[in-house]
Formats: sequence, C-alpha cells, structure tokens
Amino acid sequence: MVRLQVRVMPDAHAFTCRYTLTVPAGDTATTLALNLDRRFRIARVQAPRAQQQRVARVYYPFFGDTLQCVQVRYAARSHQARRITLTYSGVLTEKFFTAQVLEFSGHSGWLPFRPLREYEPVRYTLDVRTPPGYQVLSTTAPRRQRPGHWAFRGRTSAIEITALVGQHFARAQAAARPLVGVVKAGPALGRPDSVLLHQAAGIIGFYNRTIGQQDSIRAFRVLLPGTNRDAFGLLANATVITYSEFNTADRGDLLILAHEISHKWWGYGSVHDENDWLNEAFATYSSLLYLQASGDTAGYRLELAKRAKTAVGTPPLLGFDRTKYDYPMYRRVIYDKGTVLLAALHARLGTGPFVAVLAATAARQVSTTAAFLDVVAQTVGSDTRAWLLAKLQR
Ligand SMILES: [Zn+2]
Repeated sequence: MVRLQVRVMPDAHAFTCRYTLTVPAGDTATTLALNLDRRFRIARVQAPRAQQQRVARVYYPFFGDTLQCVQVRYAARSHQARRITLTYSGVLTEKFFTAQVLEFSGHSGWLPFRPLREYEPVRYTLDVRTPPGYQVLSTTAPRRQRPGHWAFRGRTSAIEITALVGQHFARAQAAARPLVGVVKAGPALGRPDSVLLHQAAGIIGFYNRTIGQQDSIRAFRVLLPGTNRDAFGLLANATVITYSEFNTADRGDLLILAHEISHKWWGYGSVHDENDWLNEAFATYSSLLYLQASGDTAGYRLELAKRAKTAVGTPPLLGFDRTKYDYPMYRRVIYDKGTVLLAALHARLGTGPFVAVLAATAARQVSTTAAFLDVVAQTVGSDTRAWLLAKLQR
C-alpha cells in the first residue's frame, strides 16, 4: 500500500512529495530499501522501530543511472506491518513538461521504488495540491476534488502512479460502452484525436471479446500530455501516449496504440529477465491480432514477417539474460522472437484455442514462463506444452 501527498509548483516545474510505503506483515525482511532519483532532495526518512537508516548511492543497471538508495535496517524479523515515509522534493527535467502540462508518470521517475520491484502492482492513494487555476488528471476520475486539491486512488505498478497537472485539458468520451476517454493537455482536441478515440474503443472492444474475455475493461483512459517522447501502457486501464504527432490512421501508430492498451493484461512478467516476453511479445502479438481482426491481413503478414526476419539466429528465449547483450538483441529476442513464437502457437492451435490460452494467461496474471507453460498444458494439452518448451529452448 502506498500513500502519496504531493504539492506541485508549476511555475518552477517543482514538487514536494511525502511517500508512505506500508510493507505488509508477511514481508519479514530485516532490511528494506527504496531507490530514488539522485537529483531529488530527501528532507526526511521516517521508519518507526527501525534500528538504522542510511542513504547510499547505488548504480542501477536497468536505468543505466546512479540512484540514491534509502536503506532501513531492523533489529529482528518483524511480524507486523511496517511503514516507511520519505519526504523529498524535486524538479522535473525538461522531457517531462511543456507550457501546457507537468507529467508525473511511469517514465518521469518521480517515485521511489523497491529495487527490482518497480513494476510490482500496488494499491495507492494520491493527493495532489496545486495553485489555483490548475487541474490534475490521472488514470481514473478523482474521488474528491476542490480547487487546488485532488484526490485519487487505484491500483497500478509501483512507479506508474500518474498525475498530469495543467490549466487546460480537452476531453472526449466514446458514446458507447466500454467507457473510453481521451484526455489531452491543451485547449482543444484535433482530428487525429477523434480518430484515436474511435480506434481505441474498437481495440478495447476486440480485446474484451478475446484476450480480456475473463477480465474485461469497463473504463479506459488515453492520456495525451504532448511531451513528445514515447508511449507506454499501464496496468491501471490507461495508456500514456506522449507523441505530439500521433495518427492512428497510420498502421505504425495504430499498432503502438493497440500494443500499449494490451499492457493492461500483459504487465506481470519481470522486466529484469526473460519473463519480460510475457509483457512485450504478448503486447506485440495482441496488436497484430487486432490488425488481423480489423481486416488488415496484409499488414498482419508484413509485420509478422519483419519480426521473423530479425528473430533469425538469436539466442533461446528461455534463459535469455539481457545483461549479457545490447539493447537491439534484447528487442530481437524479447519482442520479435517472442512474437514469432506466439504466431507459431496460434498457427498450431487455431484462433479459438489460442485465444482461450491468452485469455486464461491474462486472467491469472501469469508472471513466469513456467506458469504460462502450465496454462498451455491445462488449456490445450501437454503435447503443445512440450512443443512450445522445445521452441523456447531454441
Ligand atoms: Zn510494451
């Protein structure tokens, strides 16, 4: 459980944050650690019953950056819930704001996280204070709001808790269920944003009938901060598309949108090892499935063929150690080879059973390749499990 109390000073692109992590009684570790951007100033660390606390610099390979690590040590194994509160302040770097918006998101690195657990799902409450005239948008509607004070709650990955702060947001909502909305920083939506809303509703409808049939989306939000950097999906029924030019009438942008939306289901594998294919290959293949279902079979074949080509001659997916390879090889194995494997599984099983496998995998929030193989065995039989295992080892 995470509790966040944030004060935003938009003129200075600055914020202060009081972050409280409650570690459940079942977690009996005697040392707890929280990583935080080294540029932020920690004003206070509160850890009741702790014997020792210190802040050290640590290199974090996954970010390719040195962070500050708050380490709290307890005298004995605890069998009670424990609470750590960090109070810190910082300034957003220029990638994360425009004249219209400040972006506090999964990519702005504004939150502490336990090492190697940045994508662990957490329940949270988020309170944001702003000067008068500002609005705060998150992945859900606020549960309370009054001028200068906004309160949200939800569940998402530890570093993905999101707040967009600005004076003007334009919004549109799909007419039919599921409730799909687009929120854009700035005064007005453009024509591509209306196309995007329509496409997002179509993609979500398709996923709800297929991969999400056991765990469907009832409401979804596309956030468009316009900070023009990248795009990413959240576990919290939302995606952040920062590109200022984004037109889903183009196949490439449509695939990005479909990929990111599907991360609502594909976000439970560790990003630090081979299990990241459960996130990235599954999201990529889901986007290709949407392309196929929407009638663009030529596009489906073309996109698959591209990936089949780059997957040739790569190391096995099972046991792939990303720390031993460069980023392009990681993409070729985790994204492309994984996608080609799923296409092969699709071809072997046919669409009905294949979609049943994906839906069961999504509903169980499968986080390891071994657990996925078990879902395959239970859903379509142990022969296919053995066949897939052999492919994963090649
Ligand atoms: Zn992805």
